[in-house]
Amino acid sequence: MIVVMKVGTPTPEIDRLTGEFKDWGLEPEKIVGSYKVVIGLVGDTASLNPERIEELSPWVESVLRVEAPFKRASREYRQNESTVIAVPTPNGEVRFGETEAIVTIAGPCSVENEASIVEVAHRVKAAGAQFLRGGAYKPRTSPYAFQGHGESGLDLLEAAREATGLGIITEVMDSEDIPKIAEVADILQVGARNMQNFSLLKKIGAQPKPVFLKRGMAATIEDWLMAAEYILAAGNPNVILCERGIRTFDRRYTRNTLDLSAIPVLRSLTHLPIAIDPSHGCGWSSLVPPMAKAAIAAGADSLMIEVHPNPAKALSDGPQSLTPDAFDTLMAELAPFAELCGRSAKATQPV
Ligand code: PEP
Ligand code: MN
Repeated sequence: MIVVMKVGTPTPEIDRLTGEFKDWGLEPEKIVGSYKVVIGLVGDTASLNPERIEELSPWVESVLRVEAPFKRASREYRQNESTVIAVPTPNGEVRFGETEAIVTIAGPCSVENEASIVEVAHRVKAAGAQFLRGGAYKPRTSPYAFQGHGESGLDLLEAAREATGLGIITEVMDSEDIPKIAEVADILQVGARNMQNFSLLKKIGAQPKPVFLKRGMAATIEDWLMAAEYILAAGNPNVILCERGIRTFDRRYTRNTLDLSAIPVLRSLTHLPIAIDPSHGCGWSSLVPPMAKAAIAAGADSLMIEVHPNPAKALSDGPQSLTPDAFDTLMAELAPFAELCGRSAKATQPV
């Protein structure tokens, strides 16, 4: 339920109402929009009579029920305003959101060694990326496949961060690793396989770094938004949703089906920023450029793209990784698409 306050409501009045709602056993959250303040109420609101709330104060403009099961993630909860997530990086603040330039995240699937991660970092930065990706802890289908370098992989990401000033995004698989990953990463990734690892979601929601939440490979949009809701409910408002392809029957020509229709659907349902990962979404590097363009055309706020200096030798996901040269070409090609879609192409200029 949301309580919309009239323009100019004095702060002590908002605080008084907030206190009243707490006494009723609810969890009120003050949400400051561009024009109005709204008090979001989560808890057992089903039996609450909106008229009783309207009578509490002459400053209450309206009381609305949020029908969706994802309350905090819903657009209504933020008065229809899209959330902008501002992430400090050594190169300056990078902003994710519908009203911002497109943010590009690029790098290898796995962090392999210092020379290669630093080389890729320099190359993707020069092409216009703002974030370096790379897994130190890898979720692999086979227990015999390369599992990532773990803690020493984090040191390599740190070296690349120092060398380039790029922001770092890397995956958290186990909540025990959150503190050490958060020392290096500016954004924590929850992978597709962990999208419904609810204890991980609660713990990652209880720490302050923004979270990049991949869609589970067989998750509905509602499952996905409920996963985001876990993070928001635990106190972390900064969640970026990333579509990375859903399971399909074609294992040869596409690894997954990249659900670009998720972009307009999410835009209508949630205020959270939306990212697209065409690399995992398609599985083949040749499909990445057309799908990246399509993602921008469909309204994505951010792209995550795998780039490796020598894809044939990559320890994971080589077939879907672009070479740095191919990434340069793609970034140059994306700029006019971004502009055509009314997004600044700033994100495609070197930082
Ligand atoms: C990754 O980003 O390398 C990854 C493992 O992604 P996903 O969880 O989408 O498979
Ligand atoms: Mn990968």
